[in-house]
Formats: sequence, C-alpha cells, structure tokens
Amino acid sequence: MTSLVDSFGRSIDYMRISVTDRCDLRCIYCASSDFKAITHEEVLRYEEINRVVEAAATLGVTKIRLTGGEPLTRLNLAELVRMLSSIDGIEEVSMTTNATRLARYASELKQSGLKRVNISLDSLQPAKFTQITGGDKLADVLAGIEAANKTGLTPVKINMVVLKGINDNEIPDFVRKTIIDGWHVRFIEHMPFQNSDSRGKGLVSSEAIMTLIRHQFGELIPHHPEVGNGPASYYRLAGAKGTLGFIGAVTDCFCEGCNRFRLTADGKLRPCLLDNDEIDIKAALRRGASIDELAEIIQSAAMTKREKHHLSDGNVPAGRSMRQIGG
Ligand code: SAM
Repeated sequence: MTSLVDSFGRSIDYMRISVTDRCDLRCIYCASSDFKAITHEEVLRYEEINRVVEAAATLGVTKIRLTGGEPLTRLNLAELVRMLSSIDGIEEVSMTTNATRLARYASELKQSGLKRVNISLDSLQPAKFTQITGGDKLADVLAGIEAANKTGLTPVKINMVVLKGINDNEIPDFVRKTIIDGWHVRFIEHMPFQNSDSRGKGLVSSEAIMTLIRHQFGELIPHHPEVGNGPASYYRLAGAKGTLGFIGAVTDCFCEGCNRFRLTADGKLRPCLLDNDEIDIKAALRRGASIDELAEIIQSAAMTKREKHHLSDGNVPAGRSMRQIGG
C-alpha cells in the first residue's frame, strides 16, 4: 500500500464525507437563509462514495467520518456505513450529526459498523435551541445522546459552537454536564463564513472560555483521549467523569498536523475546509474510472493542500457554506 502524503510532508489518513447538503435544522452559523440544496442527480450515490473510499483506502486512508448537511436525512444511511466498514483497510467509520433522528437509528447504525458519533448541541434551553437551529427539537437531540451512549457509539462527543451574546452564557451549564452526567463536551470557536447568517458575530476564543472555566470551576487538568483524530486539546475537572475539549478553529492554526481531506456531497475533493480549491472526482466516477485512476485523482488533490488557513488574519471564507462543505 502507498501512503498519501501532501507537499508539506503531512500524512493524510482521514477522510470526511458529506453525504448530503440537506438538513432538518437551519443553524445560523452553518448556512445563509437563502441556501439552495443541490439536486438529487448531483449527489453522489452510495456506490460512488464507496468507490472513492476504496481508492482512498489503497492510499492508506483508514478513518472515515460521515457528515453533511445532516447525514441522517439521507435514506438508509446504515447501508452506506455497512459498505464502508467492510472495505479493506478502513478501521473506523464515525459520524457527526445533529442527533434529531439518532434515537431511531442508533442501534441499526451500530450493527452496521458505525463506531462513534459527535453530536452538535449549542444550547440546553429549548427557546435558545430553537433560536439557533430554527427547530423545536432539543428533546429529540437529548434522546439521541442517550441512545448513542446506550448503544455504545462511544465516546459521544458533544460539539458546542460558542456564539458571542447568544449561547456563551451557557458555557457553565455544559461544563456541569461533564461533572454530573459524564459528557464529553468540545467548545468550538465560531468560524465567520460569509455565507452564514452569523457572519459578523464576535468571537469567543478558546482562551477566554478556558479562563472562565478555571475561574468558576478550578484547575483544568490536561487529558489525553484514547480515540480521536482531531484538532481539540482536552482537559477535565477534578472529579469529573467527562472531559472538556477546546477547538480553536480561528485562533489556533492546527494546520501543521492536519491529516484530513473532504469529499463533498456533489463529488468534489476538498483538501482544506477553509480553502475553496476543489478537485472534481464525480466526472471520473461517472465515466467508470478504475480504482487506480481514482486513487491518482485523490493523490493529486492531496498535493494541492495548502500549508495553512488564514482565519486569524481576518480572512473570512467566501464560497461554500459549512453545510455544503460538510463541517
Ligand atoms: N448536521 C450535522 C451536525 O449538526 O453535526 C453535521 C454537519 S455540521 C456542518 C458539522 C459541524 O460543523 C457541527 O458540529 C457544527 O457545529 C460545525 N459548524 C458549522 N458551521 C460552523 C461555524 N461557522 N463555525 C464553527 N463550527 C461550525
């Protein structure tokens, strides 16, 4: 097996796949309200995604994360999980979800080979949840979290995007969840995409969140999780079963260790979340390209991966919204 190494010497072994740009929520930071979904014809079919992953696996990709849009709005997602988990070399298939439908599907997904889930949850207050997401579904999400834990889609990580003046007053409530309920919470800095309704909202930095937590709850003890590929740094509070993660998406350029690339729902390889360069792989798939040809396209895409993003220099990404890229 060859390995996938970009022009800066970074090994790429992790692929995030957006299976759809449709979603049953409308989070203000994820897309703008005039968002138009792509047509069904444009969306990669499961067999097509499967072929891309087969090709990626020949290059040493071992980890897959399904995302979107909301992956659970796609029909029979468990079938895709089953297909991808059976590919030689793929060690882990995981998913990022809003969990509104997870209670219904958790057990089937687990049986199909899904290893774990990250769940997006930005408020524990029903009215605030609706303000941020446009949906009245907090109870469904909490049921989804419970189902994920019961079914063993663990460790379940809860992602909270911290929005200045909107949900930052709930940081202590999420911290308490790590103490009382053993939740693993990750605070994500809000990225200012141009195509989102939250552009222009101020930043609450990871540093500021950590200072607040230290002040209210005491020392943050560094923690090294057994699983995870990510850019978060982890801590826990004394006596807490759960952990606290901080993703400095804006202030902390974690590009040096970046091991990932993305496949969009409409069949574009995207080497960097925050760079608009994309390489079409759908055309090759639809003209019947071999696995070797697809692997070559993936390899050349990896070589275009930029050294780093420029969010901290005030660069606000234009082009696709998070919902279209698959955050
Ligand atoms: N629908 C799924 C969900 O809600 O988890 C998966 C897709 S969503 C785009 C994936 C992740 O991207 C979520 O955790 C979400 O909070 C994060 N995200 C979206 N827009 C963001 C932004 N502007 N800044 C930071 N994180 C963002």
